[in-house]
Formats: sequence, structure tokens, C-alpha cells
Amino acid sequence: PYTGPSAAEILQKRKDFLSPSMFTFYKNPLHLVDGKMQYLFDEQGRRYLDGFGGIATVCCGHCHPDVVEAIINQTKRLQHSTILYLHHAIAEFAEALAKKLPGDLNVVFFTNSGTEANELAMMMARLYTGCHDIISLRNAYHGNAAGTMGVTAQSNWKFNVIQSGVHHALNPDQYRGDFGSDGEKYAKDVQNLIDFGTCGRVGGFIAEAIQGVGGILELAPGYLPAAYSSVRKAGGLCIADEVQSGFARTGSHFWGFENQGVVPDIVTMAKGIGNGIPIGAVVTTPEIAQVLTRSSYFNTFGGNPVCTAGAHAVLKVLEKEKLQENAFVVGSYLKQRLTSLQDKYEIIGDVRGRGLMLGVELVTDRQLKTPAKAETVHVMDQMKELGVLIGKGGFYGNVFRITPPLCFTKEDADFLVDAMDYTMSKI
Ligand code: PMP
Repeated sequence: PYTGPSAAEILQKRKDFLSPSMFTFYKNPLHLVDGKMQYLFDEQGRRYLDGFGGIATVCCGHCHPDVVEAIINQTKRLQHSTILYLHHAIAEFAEALAKKLPGDLNVVFFTNSGTEANELAMMMARLYTGCHDIISLRNAYHGNAAGTMGVTAQSNWKFNVIQSGVHHALNPDQYRGDFGSDGEKYAKDVQNLIDFGTCGRVGGFIAEAIQGVGGILELAPGYLPAAYSSVRKAGGLCIADEVQSGFARTGSHFWGFENQGVVPDIVTMAKGIGNGIPIGAVVTTPEIAQVLTRSSYFNTFGGNPVCTAGAHAVLKVLEKEKLQENAFVVGSYLKQRLTSLQDKYEIIGDVRGRGLMLGVELVTDRQLKTPAKAETVHVMDQMKELGVLIGKGGFYGNVFRITPPLCFTKEDADFLVDAMDYTMSKI
């Protein structure tokens, strides 16, 4: 049993010693002490089904024994900087990861986070093309450093940083967008930005295939092929931000961009790559990778031996336990059950997403699509009381984000939907 400080004591220490910017979900913040696969346990040993671990990087389950063992073994033997010396774990994981990507995307650069990966990707695109302008999507989230905050396009995640050479394109939002599910119509805005907002050439384009922080918005079909085509004609590189949609989460494919049938020039990843270990990566072609040899570039801990040993174990677990297939089967079932809930409750305006990356948008009026913010918070809080954790997101904070560890079962899906059903029936 847990014998450490109580939730109240931790809360006090946070107030005294941690940044006031830190926030928690829930009226009474949850104090977690243990994790096991799709379950989390609080200080009293109470069990919660984790419907949101994916966001916190857990893809193959909390404390998966294979991953823990790989980390412990490598920690006992050697932990060091990534740079200067040779280490087999780094080279072996780079090879395994490169094999998961299409085309000649086979040069890997490791980072510690998604932000770092996207910063590096954008810098490489700018160096390679000699052009500064980058196009990103409205409602996107790409990170919290100056460059990535610039391409991020939601005011609530932005500070007043200097945002140079960034253009935000119309979001191909199938629920609230003007062109419904017609991806090509939205993509015309990318061409317009190039024609009327730049010199006719751009450095690059960055997009998530399914916007995570933005509220599980899957880009309208046909969007990426059309947008990529405009960007490439303008000399730019296409960057796929797979921080959330990568690593088997969408079920039908290993990478989110594959759902749109495109092959990017640069792919960035983090979160799921390490199942909770801080690691990110940028994967690109040998030709583009050359730009980093123009000067000295390194990252002290990006892809260090312990993190790469752990991440390699994650990749092996995904394959051994067929977790992509599981994401597809359980995700489809869960989506279907959530969709039937939509028939029962007016408040559910939209159910969307793919595999185990699902969103449920709550509105007080289906026609006007008025965000049901307070109800979203209330349902999440009540579901927690019933032992189910889900997340929320979207610009208005009215979208449930359901991104469980990929070992989620149909029984777990039933429990989650039943808890949501019961809670909604009491509103
Ligand atoms: N890209 C996407 C799509 C993300 O969701 C996030 C984090 N929410 C990031 C980049 C930034 O990753 P990190 O927080 O690891 O820097």
C-alpha cells in the first residue's frame, strides 16, 4: 500500500513550489500512485480504467513489463549522453524505426519531446528550401517553444511570441468547417496562402492527420494529397506531425498520414514512441538530412541509451501483441457504441476519430453547435467517480478525447460507454 504524502499535502506543495501555470483535471484532483496496463490506481488503491493514457504517451500499457525490463537493464549497465560515443541501442532502434516508415524516410534524429522534434523539422525544411514561410492549420497544436508555438493555432495555447513567416490555413474540419468533408475545397486555401501571402515559394507545411489537442478532428478526406501538391509545387517540404496519431493508434494504419494516402518529406513523433519515456524523433530522407551537416548540431539526451532501449521494447510489444490490430478492432467497436449513444442523447453533437483516437463533441444545440462546456466537465468528473478516466480538448473544451492504451479490450470499451451512458442519463 501507498504510504507517502496525501493528495492534500501534494496540492499544498504544488501551490508552494511549482509553477502556478500547472493545471489538473477534476474538481478534486486525482492522485495516482500506480499503473498497470490499462488501469491506474489512486492513493487508496482505487482502480480507474484509463481512457486517456494515450495522450500521456502510454501506447502499450502502463508499466508494460517488457518495457520496464528493457529500461532497468540498460540503466544498470550504462546511461549516458547520446552524443560522442557509439551505443548499440541507439543504432538498433533507429534501424527498427526507419523500417516502419515508407519510401526513403530512413534517417532518424532523436529528441526528448514532440516540441523539439517539430522545431527541428521546421528548421530542416527552412534550411533545405532556403525559404522561411511555413503553413500550418488553424486549430493545430505543435509544441510550446517559439517556433512550434508560432505554428500552433489556438489562442489558448499561445503566448505573445514573435511568430515570423507563419501562415495558418483553413482547417479541414468536417464538423464545423464550411465545406463539410470535401478535403480538396479546404486545400484551396493553402494555394491561396502561397499565391497571396508569400513570394510564391514556401519552406514547408506541417499538419497532424488527426488533430489531438484540437479535439480529435480528422482532416477531411482528400485534404493532405491536395495540400501537399500545392506545397511541393511551391518548393516546400511536407511535415507530418505524428506525435499523437502515430504508433498504431489509428488502427487501420501505423501512421496517421497513411490514412490520407500521402508520403511526407519529414515525419515527427513523440509520446507513444516511448510509452511514457521522454523521447521524440524526426525521420526524413538522406538528402534532406544532409542540411544538418552544414554546422554542428546535437541534442545531449535525445535518444540516449536508456530511452532508445525502452522505445525499442515498445515497438517490439506493439508487434508481438498485435496492438495495431487491437486498436482497429476495439476502436471500431468503441466508436460504434459511442455512435449509438449519440442516438440516445441530444447533447452528443458528433462522434469521430479512428482506432483508439476517438472524440465525442458535446453541444447544447445540435443545429447551432453551441459548445456544452460545463456539461463536458461535469460528465468527466462523474465518470471519474465511476472509475473511468477520459480527457477533453478542442478549442471550446467541449470534446471528450478517448485515447486509451492500445491494450484496451472490448469489455473496457463497454465499461467506458456504460459509465458515460449512466452519467448522461442523470444530467
Ligand atoms: N505535436 C502534437 C500533435 C502534440 O499533441 C503535442 C503535445 N500535446 C506536441 C506536438 C508537443 O509535444 P511535447 O509536449 O512532447 O513537446
